[in-house]
Amino acid sequence: MGAPRVRIAPSPTGFFHVGTARTALFNWFVARQAPGGVFILRIEDTDATRNREEWVAPIVDSLAWLGLDLDEGPYRQSDNALAHDGAAQLLRRSGYLYYCDCTGEALAARKAPGAPPGYDGFCRDRGLDRGPTTALRFRTPLTGTTLVSDEVRGEVVFDNAVIDDFVVAKSTGAVLYALANVVDDRHDKITHVIRGEEHLANAPKQMLLWAALNDATGDYVALPSYAHLPLLVNERRQKLSKRKDPVSTESYRNEGYLAEAVVNYLALLGWSPRGDEEKVTREVLVEQFRLGDVSHSPAFFDVKKLTHLNGEYLRELDPEEFVAACAPWVCPWSTSWRPSDRTPPWSEEQFHASLFARVAPLVHERVATLSQVVAMVDFFFLDEPVIDEASFHKVVLADPQGPVVLAEALRRFELLGDWDGPTLHAVTSGIGDEVGLSLRRAQAPIRCAVTGRLVGPPLFESLEYLGRRRTVQRLRAALARTL
Ligand code: GLU
Repeated sequence: MGAPRVRIAPSPTGFFHVGTARTALFNWFVARQAPGGVFILRIEDTDATRNREEWVAPIVDSLAWLGLDLDEGPYRQSDNALAHDGAAQLLRRSGYLYYCDCTGEALAARKAPGAPPGYDGFCRDRGLDRGPTTALRFRTPLTGTTLVSDEVRGEVVFDNAVIDDFVVAKSTGAVLYALANVVDDRHDKITHVIRGEEHLANAPKQMLLWAALNDATGDYVALPSYAHLPLLVNERRQKLSKRKDPVSTESYRNEGYLAEAVVNYLALLGWSPRGDEEKVTREVLVEQFRLGDVSHSPAFFDVKKLTHLNGEYLRELDPEEFVAACAPWVCPWSTSWRPSDRTPPWSEEQFHASLFARVAPLVHERVATLSQVVAMVDFFFLDEPVIDEASFHKVVLADPQGPVVLAEALRRFELLGDWDGPTLHAVTSGIGDEVGLSLRRAQAPIRCAVTGRLVGPPLFESLEYLGRRRTVQRLRAALARTL
């Protein structure tokens, strides 16, 4: 076989699902691991009732974000509509398809209870001509079997008797997915059809159509090899739900997952690299990936694991890279891409890039996604901190030591000669000693007053970067609330 030609063929019916991203990735691996391999995007947009133009851009953008570069496309299935019609007519003339005018009700009325599902073949030999209500059906062989040699699942045998005479073109003349997909795969010279398991049942139908086209056209095109990838499931072992589970690739990008981490994680869904290491570079993934090693069992899409892996990737960035990576979340006005569903709570005027570059190292090790940075550094940019009232109550209002520590910190901080982290640390620890509190407990009311929360970046460096004027102002405001 020559160089592989693979494709993903998503229908633009909604956001770009992580399952489609995994399918795209496995296709891309196959294209990239052989010299001359070709990765194609084909938008399957023939079902005008379900497809929407605005869902095409997210597909293209998500692939670009994940670094799954295309060699051809995006092609539009609808651009090939004439070829689909031509194929349907040729197959009809060759006897592979027949016209059928049965309504759903008529079929239901004919069927005995317990009869097999699907069409009963009523019009198979009626020799109908095309009419306003006639669909075209495939004349599925009544006997024999169709063998799908699947690179993942091995040999899957389908009894032709259980494949009904499926509809290939609607009464409007519109050619449906099963045939359009085959005509396009032949046209695009696809060598491997790698797609989700939900399409396994389509494979025998498409193989039958493929063979029929070989015969009717006289143009023999070798069947592609098939690989049906295992389903992605949630922690309840249910198929990922578009409504209940976070499944859009875009939502992960918006939250600040790195493309490299997502690619690495998706690669582990149904396959694993050699060795125990889960963090594997793209180059190694491409080199090691084998379709034949993909597992049959459903793969658990574990958001926690992805988040953990993302944290590891983030920690590997050097400080400048981390600052640059944070930009879409902290200063979206300066970036070409920005998360669609969130903006920072501060304005462009309040944000200072040089201050952010100083404070970013304080949070770098503490975040697992880039969007988490915002809440950790907001107090540097907002005029006043967003106070978490429950925490404030606990460590300032309800604890008699709270106001004591605040008053003492205020007094000493105002008089400090050097305003730097180590000095602030020493002073706070001195206050703790005096009032009989550990450093941790002495820090709590100060942290809450100045940052608004009890958790966050290291306090004393934060105070240093925030500056004396603003620190003192916030201590005073907090103290005023205790009076
Ligand atoms: N349009 C189909 C889908 O979105 C593609 C199936 C295939 O890859 O053959 O699932």
